[in-house]
Amino acid sequence: MLTPVKVKCKRCGREAKSDEFVLDPVYKMMVCRDCVKERRMNEFSAAKAKQREEAKIKMEEQIKKEKPAGWDAEDAEIERAFKAKQAAAPKIERIDDANVKYTCKKCKYQFKFNVLNRMPGRCPYCGGSIQGI
Ligand SMILES: [Zn+2]
Ligand SMILES: [Zn+2]
Repeated sequence: MLTPVKVKCKRCGREAKSDEFVLDPVYKMMVCRDCVKERRMNEFSAAKAKQREEAKIKMEEQIKKEKPAGWDAEDAEIERAFKAKQAAAPKIERIDDANVKYTCKKCKYQFKFNVLNRMPGRCPYCGGSIQGI
């Protein structure tokens, strides 16, 4: 009867039956089955850890892309208020030092407005007040 010979694994030092040894492509030597199992486990957890790390980086990049550094809810509120103010402000185009092209907020009538003597005092078309100058 053939008794399997116990051989010491060169990698881990454990003793295993000689017929349980395999040539491992990574270690490039004959190792015991436990070594192969261990290597696969390590590779698996390393791959998982890498995946997690990549997912984390991706998420952080996504957050950076969407919101500039230092961005918070307060900034968002300020920006929202600023945009609302801009939208409400009448359109004013400068013609020269004294005159601007003013668009009436009420009727959208466009007329020349002198900012120095503030003439006309009201919209010549609808009588709406001049705002924002
Ligand atoms: Zn081993
Ligand atoms: Zn008007």
